[in-house]
Amino acid sequence: MTEEKLNYSHFRQLLLNEQSRLKYLLGAVTTTLQSPDKPDSDKKNKKSTKKKPEPIDASELEATAKLKTHLQMVNDALNRLANSQYGLCTSCKKQIPKSRLESMPEIPHCLMCEMKQLLK
Ligand SMILES: [Zn+2]
Repeated sequence: MTEEKLNYSHFRQLLLNEQSRLKYLLGAVTTTLQSPDKPDSDKKNKKSTKKKPEPIDASELEATAKLKTHLQMVNDALNRLANSQYGLCTSCKKQIPKSRLESMPEIPHCLMCEMKQLLK
């Protein structure tokens, strides 16, 4: 026991909360995407009256992709928790400051490594 030990159950709870939130959001987005133009919608079938071209998927797909990436990070963090690797930077293996984990429990890198990645 060198450093103050991280409260794993605390972070597990944070991660599980985040996981369920993301799954919920993903479900919501996916439902929107999957519902095609239902002919039974009361509005006129053709949206020709609308001037707005409805930039359909691009932004939604992007949002979905981001959510999935985020969810993957959360899952990875939960795996690290299970392997007692949680809280260690996945690049340099140094301890990630607790305050950083508190605000972003799924973060896989310490600040230095993240900055290095951004500067690539
Ligand atoms: Zn690092």
